[in-house]
Parts: sequence; structure tokens; C-alpha cells
Amino acid sequence: MALANKYNLFVIEDAAQAIDSFYKGKPLGSIGHFGCFSFHETKNIQCGEGGMLAINDDRFFRRAEIIWEKGTNRAEFFRGEVNKYGWVDIGSSFLPSELAAAFLYAQLECLDNIQTKRKTLWNRNFKELEILKAKGISLPSFPDFSTNNAHMFYLVCSSLEQRSKIIEAFRRNNILAVFHYLSLHKSPFSQNKHDGIELLESDRYSDCLLRLPFYNNLDLNNKHISIISKVIADVN
Ligand SMILES: *Cc1c(COP(=O)(O)O)cnc(C)c1O
Repeated sequence: MALANKYNLFVIEDAAQAIDSFYKGKPLGSIGHFGCFSFHETKNIQCGEGGMLAINDDRFFRRAEIIWEKGTNRAEFFRGEVNKYGWVDIGSSFLPSELAAAFLYAQLECLDNIQTKRKTLWNRNFKELEILKAKGISLPSFPDFSTNNAHMFYLVCSSLEQRSKIIEAFRRNNILAVFHYLSLHKSPFSQNKHDGIELLESDRYSDCLLRLPFYNNLDLNNKHISIISKVIADVN
């Protein structure tokens, strides 16, 4: 933010997964000029597809409202500030339906419960799987200035080969575990835009990160986690 302010730039936080996360006590999504949250079906609370734009700078309120109203000043009309409304800017239909919003709102009201359960599950996973460190598999860690919102549970395997073996062993046990984001600089879109420099950490996470099944209704008492740790322990 210091750099952005110095050079008159704007910061849009990708806070897609960041609900109930804090950086030095500040909620993520509240730091940049804008914060974008996702309510895609894979997030802690969700409405299938949907999202939220948090506007942290008063200068953008009016225009955001107009874009939200499909490019019109309809909201001003309903507040009685203008006597007719019409097109004043570009816009589109970015709104979720009332039905999707109601579905989401109910979860927002229960956010504390959902998060307590997710964090309990997360901590349980962590405890049970800590033994995997002996196989060169690392578990998530959090610096002091940040918090864990139990969005996902992932492992970082020691190699692509190890990860493939684990995914395959899971598959035989009917457990779906998936890898995650791939290196952007290796995507077809970026290939001719990238300067060719090696991005080793990016590639390492593309190759080695493994997401375990993790969702709100995961049964706290089931054997799921012990099976997972046994399956991995058996992979050589
Ligand atoms: C989920 C996610 C997105 C995409 O969210 P949509 O609601 O599908 O637009 C973007 N960035 C990150 C980091 C995400 O986790």
C-alpha cells in the first residue's frame, strides 16, 4: 500500500479465499482500495457462483453502485436524489439472484459456527498428518502476523512422482484429492509473454501441492483422516 500510494496506483486484493482471515489484525479484503471475495462452491461459504466487491475507498462508491445497477443511476432514483434514471456509464449484470443471495446470507449468519467446525477439522487433520513429515511431506505453516481461516488443507509432497503415487493410492481408496494452481508463466496464454526466467517455487507448488478433501460437512468422527494417513504411509 505504501508503494501504491507513492506511485498513485490502485490495489485490488484477491481475497477470494480470505473470509475470516487477518493480517496483523486487519481483515483481508480491507487493505487494498478494493477487495474481491469469492462465494464459488469451493469456498468456506458459497452460493454456487458469486462474489463480493469490498470498496475501501469512498471515491469509488458512486461509480461502483452505477456499474452494479447495470450502468444506470437507478439507485439514486430510488433514494429520491434524481427524478428519473437512465444510462450514465458502462455496466453489466453482475448481480447474484435473490435466491442465491438468500442461500449465502444464511451461511453468513452462521459464519462463526461454520468456521469453528472448519478450524476443528483442520486442526485434527494437522495433528493426524504431522507424522508425514518423516516422508518429506510438509504441512501448511503460518507466520505470526497471519491467521488460518481453514479454507483448505493441503500437503506439499517432496516430488511430482510422490504426489502422483499418493493421488493414485487415494483413487484406489475412493478418496478424491487434487492438485491445485499451475504455474501461470507456463500456461499457453503466458508463454510468449514470459521472459523465460525460471520460477522454481511456482513450479514446485504446481508439481507438489496436494489438496485433501476438506468441506463443511466432513464428519468429525469418521475414519477419513486415519485412512488418508494410512494410505500415504503405505506409499513408498
Ligand atoms: C476461487 C478463487 C478465485 C476465483 O473466484 P471466482 O468466484 O470463481 O471468480 C480467484 N482467486 C483465488 C485465489 C481463488 O481462490
